[in-house]
Amino acid sequence: MRPIPRPGLHILRRDLRMLQLGVEWPAVAAILDTPAVAAVLRAVDGFRDLSGVQLAAEAHGVSNEAAHQAIDALLDSGALVDQAVVRPPALDPAIWSTMWLLAGPRSTAAEILRSRRQSSVYVEGSGRVCDQIRALLSEEQLTAAKAPDDATVVVLGADGEPSRAAADEALRRGVPYLCVGIRELVGLVGPFVVPGRTSCLRCVDLSRSDLDPCWRIVVDSMEVRPPREPSRTPSLVATVAGYAASEIVLWTSGSLPSSCDHVVEIPHGLGAVQTVGYPPHPQCGCGWQDRRDTMSA
Ligand SMILES: [Zn+2]
Repeated sequence: MRPIPRPGLHILRRDLRMLQLGVEWPAVAAILDTPAVAAVLRAVDGFRDLSGVQLAAEAHGVSNEAAHQAIDALLDSGALVDQAVVRPPALDPAIWSTMWLLAGPRSTAAEILRSRRQSSVYVEGSGRVCDQIRALLSEEQLTAAKAPDDATVVVLGADGEPSRAAADEALRRGVPYLCVGIRELVGLVGPFVVPGRTSCLRCVDLSRSDLDPCWRIVVDSMEVRPPREPSRTPSLVATVAGYAASEIVLWTSGSLPSSCDHVVEIPHGLGAVQTVGYPPHPQCGCGWQDRRDTMSA
């Protein structure tokens, strides 16, 4: 192993005695800023292997044991990684650094990249939101599928209300999908549906119908009679598209999107972003197969 500092990670002074490893990643840690730690951090350059780093630290007057402990502490915290995990030349360095951080302290950017390369995304729908999601996913270098049947994950997008018919079809297809739309002044991202495992758009409608018995009629009316001149503000479109693309990037990286069993509501002038939970609804058929399996197990 030829260690380098984890790409994208801040290594900062915390106070007179401590260094801070990271600020907003899954494994923020603090470590004593000993002469051994300082010498090891100076020595990691991607050319020296672990023995070379140890020798370089010892050349600065650090004992063998102290250098060894410093290397172990930095490796254990995830602050040092192997230089042998090389960024593909075509991949944006900033995206590569993000992958290193997303991987957490026990994994690598290569694992994230492998997961993404096994994924293909189909964005179903037309309009500004879908156009921007496609552009963002392309920038993230995710593969675009030519048809929903070829995709490992689908986005059902709209500038208005997400289509229930398209959601039903996606559920039948059995491929994970994300519902995205804008309802008047509120952007909607979610639910992200893993068929048979997490709640679907019908579950959301059924939960809302429990609170408002007329919700089903309202939904049907929204689909049948959309506003003649729908509202659309570029900043909300961009926010919704960005959030949706981020959810797909997370899923294709092996993480669970925050919109699983939830709808993220992004209001324009109506308060803060909210993540509203919608567990699978007992009257929705989307999880029946799973529940039968559980009962017979
Ligand atoms: Zn459901």
